[in-house]
Amino acid sequence: MTAPRPLVTRFAPSPTGFLHLGHAHSALAGWRRARTGGGRFLLRIEDIDATRCRPEFTDAIFEDLTWLGLDWDGPVRVQSRHMADYRITLDALAARGLLYPCFCSRGDIAREIAGSAAAPHGPDGPLYPGTCRRLTEAKRRARLAAGEPHALRLDMGRALAGLAGPLDFEEAGQGRLHCDPARFGDVVLARKEVPASYHLCVTHDDARDGVTLVTRGVDLLPATDLHRLLQHLMGWPAPAYAHHALLTDASGRRLAKRDGAPTLRDLRRQGASPAQVRATAGWPD
Ligand code: GLU
Repeated sequence: MTAPRPLVTRFAPSPTGFLHLGHAHSALAGWRRARTGGGRFLLRIEDIDATRCRPEFTDAIFEDLTWLGLDWDGPVRVQSRHMADYRITLDALAARGLLYPCFCSRGDIAREIAGSAAAPHGPDGPLYPGTCRRLTEAKRRARLAAGEPHALRLDMGRALAGLAGPLDFEEAGQGRLHCDPARFGDVVLARKEVPASYHLCVTHDDARDGVTLVTRGVDLLPATDLHRLLQHLMGWPAPAYAHHALLTDASGRRLAKRDGAPTLRDLRRQGASPAQVRATAGWPD
């Protein structure tokens, strides 16, 4: 039997706005588990999308978490500084014939879907109809040689064909949950404008950092099926997961910046103490 790996949790926000109570709930979930279980708590900034992320929000994350009374272990990983790492993972998958370039625009895909009888949907929206998977090798090479912008998609059929059996993962309080990554179809692993994707970077970094327990919102539960597949393809260890319920407002709607959920700095400005905010975020001292 292999020895259990030491407990490592993490909080991995995207700096697209100021943190609100939902983020505090999530951060505290990982931090508490680590601090009460003798483990390590890591902070990671998921900022690969330069069009949506801003450095001032990253600075605000450090400030708000510190104000809230959270500390983290070791250096913060800032994903945008490690694009070469994600490239290496993409190259490894490509070398095994598991990726293909996709030249389609959103409009191309929408037209193709509109013209087809069946348009299956996955957790991230309508499934890609596979247009560029069917390109001849000569056409593909010519378009690459012409420098046509392209995304990289996982060939889901090939990825699944190599599996010895079904995949599953450990979910806190629920035991082992069965995975169905096929629901994602030929998912994008490197975008046209960002040469990586959330799914790729999050699984890479959790493996790299030895994360053993992923605490995050239940909205990301479906994505775990895909993350488990990527871990399997790359030979990375599978962490356990604890997906938590999302905090909602008085009318039952999920807290979101765009709906005016108060940010931690709003609450602070209004005179709330860190202990009060921790309690409102669901973690009374
Ligand atoms: N960066 C993601 C977000 O802000 C969270 C990713 C994760 O916890 O796996 O929603």
